[in-house]
Amino acid sequence: MVSFIGAGPGDPDLLTIKGKKIIDGADVIIYAGSLVNPQVLADAKEGARIYNSATMNLDEVIEVMKEAEAKGLHTARVHTGDPAIYGAHREQMDRLDRLGIPYEVIPGVSSFLATAAVLKKEYTLPGVSQTVILTRMEGRTPMPPKEKLLDLAQHNATMIIFLSVGMLDEMSEILRQAYQPETPVAVVYKATWEDQKIVYGDLTNIAERVKEAGIKKTALTVVGKFLGDEYELSKLYDKTFTTEFRKGVTE
Ligand code: SAH
Repeated sequence: MVSFIGAGPGDPDLLTIKGKKIIDGADVIIYAGSLVNPQVLADAKEGARIYNSATMNLDEVIEVMKEAEAKGLHTARVHTGDPAIYGAHREQMDRLDRLGIPYEVIPGVSSFLATAAVLKKEYTLPGVSQTVILTRMEGRTPMPPKEKLLDLAQHNATMIIFLSVGMLDEMSEILRQAYQPETPVAVVYKATWEDQKIVYGDLTNIAERVKEAGIKKTALTVVGKFLGDEYELSKLYDKTFTTEFRKGVTE
């Protein structure tokens, strides 16, 4: 049995209870060493075999799982954040399907949610944006033709850009063609880690400020007026609004 586990954004206390129980009981652990906080593995079983997937290719990862399965051992495959977001875990699941190896997926706190938490902001403000776009800049992985940053930016929705902080100059130049230049931007480096950094700015100056802060990777860029202070109050808690659970008062 293989358990894919979302290890959360960094702070080991943000691992789910379910994920922790599985990691602590696993015979074999394969973790994404470039981003998973090693403290997440602090209570691993004595004698557990631990592999860092940063230095392994897909075949090698699957081989470790296959050998473990043949011996009846339980493997924890530990991904950063939630494996469903840029986790490259679909290809692993498909290989396991072909090999007839059973697996499960335990979700985790994605870095984009940890980022909202450390910024103390809500992505979906009434009257500002009710849509969140998670995307990335084109790198070695090409973007599908209808998902170019400029196309997505036309919506002026809340936008969260992964894996791209090294391309902030180009990113802000593209975004300025669709958002107002003074649209607020925050870059969060290593959200919830001890060395977390937050840089604020707008589409005209964020690239410069992030360069000054020395941030080159492991950061999310979040863009949109949700970072500002203008919005409408929610209907959910509006005292004149009747919901399924609460009768509104007439004023
Ligand atoms: N599955 C992960 C994302 C993996 S892709 C998740 O759900 O968060 C790796 C990218 O995620 C990094 O380049 C960076 O853009 C972002 N990232 C991961 N952890 C982060 C953190 N703690 N703070 C800020 N960005 C992070």
